[in-house]
Amino acid sequence: MQIDWNVKTNWQKIKSHKLGNRMEVSESIQCPFCGQSFEVTIDTSVASQRFTTDCEVCCRPFEVVVECEPGEVLSVEVRT
Ligand SMILES: [Zn+2]
Repeated sequence: MQIDWNVKTNWQKIKSHKLGNRMEVSESIQCPFCGQSFEVTIDTSVASQRFTTDCEVCCRPFEVVVECEPGEVLSVEVRT
């Protein structure tokens, strides 16, 4: 357990360093087709963004519209 924790910590440090800051935030979104909730990682350094993702369960693509402030997600909207 201790070893696993250390590996994870080191990985996060590397990731943060690479990005210059901790700008990536995990947000829970819900699939508009099957209703399954799952997490996506959002880069909050971009104030307004939209992207298409595939549901982890039913694999159907849908559009996600996100409003951000640096380090914080203000709103997440899911569109088909
Ligand atoms: Zn789905």
